[in-house]
Amino acid sequence: MDLRYLFGLQRKRKSAEPSIPANRFTILKEPMQTPAEIAALHFASYNVPAQLFAAPGRVNLIGEHTDYSDGFVMPAAIDFSTIVAISHRTDGRILAHSVNFQEHITKTVDELLAARAKSWSDYPAGVLWALREHGVPIDNGFSLTIAGDVPLGAGLSSSASVEVATAFAVLGATSYDMPLKQIALLCQRAENVFVGANVGIMDQFVSCCGAQDHAVMIDCRSLEYTLAPIPPEVRIVICNSMVKHSLAEGDGGYNTRRAEMEAGLRILQSHRPEIKALRDATMADLEKWGSEMSPASLRRCRHVITEDDRVLAAVEAFRASDLTRFGELMAQAMASFRDDFEASCPEIDILIDLANRQPGCFGARLTGGGFGGCTVNLVAADRAAAFVDAMRAGYLSATGIAAEIYTSRASAGAHQIPL
Ligand code: ADP
Ligand code: MG
Repeated sequence: MDLRYLFGLQRKRKSAEPSIPANRFTILKEPMQTPAEIAALHFASYNVPAQLFAAPGRVNLIGEHTDYSDGFVMPAAIDFSTIVAISHRTDGRILAHSVNFQEHITKTVDELLAARAKSWSDYPAGVLWALREHGVPIDNGFSLTIAGDVPLGAGLSSSASVEVATAFAVLGATSYDMPLKQIALLCQRAENVFVGANVGIMDQFVSCCGAQDHAVMIDCRSLEYTLAPIPPEVRIVICNSMVKHSLAEGDGGYNTRRAEMEAGLRILQSHRPEIKALRDATMADLEKWGSEMSPASLRRCRHVITEDDRVLAAVEAFRASDLTRFGELMAQAMASFRDDFEASCPEIDILIDLANRQPGCFGARLTGGGFGGCTVNLVAADRAAAFVDAMRAGYLSATGIAAEIYTSRASAGAHQIPL
């Protein structure tokens, strides 16, 4: 499996103009149904009691465009999640009810897994497909009720939360033991192969392995991970700029940047063959041989090499409860994303500038692939409400765009919900 394709690629949709994401989240109830209500909906649909499983969305705190260079990322699970209620069947069918899409499907297992439907059901179907390939017994069928409050297509990985919640549900219902890392890989495979989106492992990984009030630092080479404690008096505030720009290249700039990085990597490897990926290179290497690269390659490589160092330093900052230091690292990461990776945009710069002027904001940076999307901000809990108001008002008056803003703590990974 190609683990170099990591997070966020599917979010780089092509659009010449700033746009409001299509297909906004529909939800029957605000806030989302309680687990007891979801269990009751399941019973009303299928006339049998269910087991319930939840899996969170995520936000990347630091470590952008480092994943496909075997480097480090540091996301956190957020307290927006998808819940899957499950019960067994004996007729070889999958009945699934999406509360958000207000749709029921009924198919035999074979029909469901034969082809993608280009609908929300592809995500649970992909997971069932990957589980069956792995040998998990699914052929008797299941009834599922799926409800979530992770905003769709906002870059908070609602897709991974559906996948991981479905996997937990099926594994839980069949009492099939699987290590968390393997569940994450299986869900990534479901999205890569069945859904057809070239996403990396980060989203599924943190949805499985997240921990309350901790960030998850992932080594994208070994898939080892480290939990870094986030002080409980801080909130993670995510501001959605509601824009997504594409560059003239038509690929969101991603392919060009990747090619520039690879050209730089080849130059470093010609001097030090033991460099397998940019993760193995140092700033000293870049100082020695960077002059042989194009200026763009040099900047892309510098972003990746310095960003890996910042992720490692960020773990230490959290361990020392040093939010000021963490905020400095976020600011450096933002500058590198903007100036070296060159993937910011005017709307994001406005959000960052506004955030840095708010009391109680420790740090702010663009998160995700770039060219729009969301910023992530670490804000003192007692200032978070005022921060949200100021960001909303300031962004609206500067751009005319209403940002969507989500406040979260770092939350636990996937789990069963006791009823
Ligand atoms: P992101 O993962 O950034 O939110 P994606 O485009 O990768 O955006 O995934 C969004 C898709 O995941 C939705 O269009 C839908 O098909 C599926 N999905 C997400 N949440 C739910 C949900 N609660 N119920 C059913 N499908 C969902
Ligand atoms: Mg997704």
